[in-house]
Amino acid sequence: MRDRLRAYDPEIFDAILGEENRQQTELELIPSENYTYPEVLTALGTVFTNKYSEGYPGNRYYGGQTYTDVIERLATARARALFGAEHANVQALSGAAMNQTVYYGLLEPGDSILAMDLTHGGHLTHGSPVSHMARVFSFHRYKADASGRIDFDEVQRIAEKVRPKLVLCGHSSFPRDLDYAGFKRVADAVGALTMADVSHIGGLIAGGAGPNPLDHGFDVITTTTHKSLRGPRGGLVLSRAEFGRRIDRSVFPGLQGGPHMHTIAAIAVALKKAAEPEFRDYAARIVSNARTLADGLIERGAELVTGGTDNHLVVVDTVASFGLEGRHAQRLLEEVGLATNKQLVPDDPLPAQRASGVRLGTPAATTRGMGDPEMTAVADLFVRALRHRDDTGERDAVRAEVRELCARFPAPV
Ligand code: PLP
Repeated sequence: MRDRLRAYDPEIFDAILGEENRQQTELELIPSENYTYPEVLTALGTVFTNKYSEGYPGNRYYGGQTYTDVIERLATARARALFGAEHANVQALSGAAMNQTVYYGLLEPGDSILAMDLTHGGHLTHGSPVSHMARVFSFHRYKADASGRIDFDEVQRIAEKVRPKLVLCGHSSFPRDLDYAGFKRVADAVGALTMADVSHIGGLIAGGAGPNPLDHGFDVITTTTHKSLRGPRGGLVLSRAEFGRRIDRSVFPGLQGGPHMHTIAAIAVALKKAAEPEFRDYAARIVSNARTLADGLIERGAELVTGGTDNHLVVVDTVASFGLEGRHAQRLLEEVGLATNKQLVPDDPLPAQRASGVRLGTPAATTRGMGDPEMTAVADLFVRALRHRDDTGERDAVRAEVRELCARFPAPV
């Protein structure tokens, strides 16, 4: 199959080879990225991509659904079992669509949503002013303190003022566990629904390495499938049974057309993997690797947002630590083979395209089999690359060490 593509479209084929080589020879530290399983890639490249399956198992708009129904039923059953949810929808085409389906499904235009401040780790899809969602719903914000603690008396004060219909927590750049019971108390006090977007930590929850919001009575959780869960790109909406019909109708026909059945087949495979005992070990190692990475950075003088981590990610304030904007740090790191991304820090005075920090995460390095010694080595390489940015010899040495580390721990690409 690869030979046919190579012969027919060498430009695309060469780009695929280039990307495979990049993923193999660079160290992936972007917390939202991972290497999926070969079995998932196989499921993605199948004839399910040919099929239209608008609707849900047993109730589709087209014929020929014998096998699509099999995979979607398996995917939803596995998702429910893995997260302990009463209802699962696996059709969202991405994390952004997944969150929109919840807002549209459970709320009315103009309703208030209480969500994390975006510079404190909230996500674009949680009502950033540049997103369409901010034009439809009215988003209000809470924050964390310097240690990452959320003051629930303050959240409650804001909630009483803005009367949200939905209390939303979850993050793309928050290195601490959340007190889900605290959010639930606030929501109950003002009669709001609760939603946790656990996109980043979905794999940690599935593997028992982080708290599950559903254990604290949350109404809905959403998670992308391609981060710590190691699946294909997609989104899960997991909810209490009473919201199932509204969520399903919100996904289809509300927001989307035909689901991507090849992706749903691959999601089912990833969820089967996540239910295996080894996945618990994997999730635990993601967290312990992040702690070791954070400790190594702190020992070398880096300043971390909240002073450390409870999960898979670490946010380094590069302005405070190295006098460097996040965008410049990201470029310098990429030049030595460390893939990171620039990141706003709490109350960042800089815009997102410049940012005062970078985000690092351990899911991909853990997939490569790296452990504590390698995380300490990565902390050292990271600090040397930024501190000695004007020393060509040192930067060449760091680049060579990154390559050698990657060669010792091959990525499954
Ligand atoms: N929610 C959170 C917390 C995320 O981190 C992300 C992506 O990074 C999304 C939603 C959106 O996911 P997608 O990029 O698949 O639309």
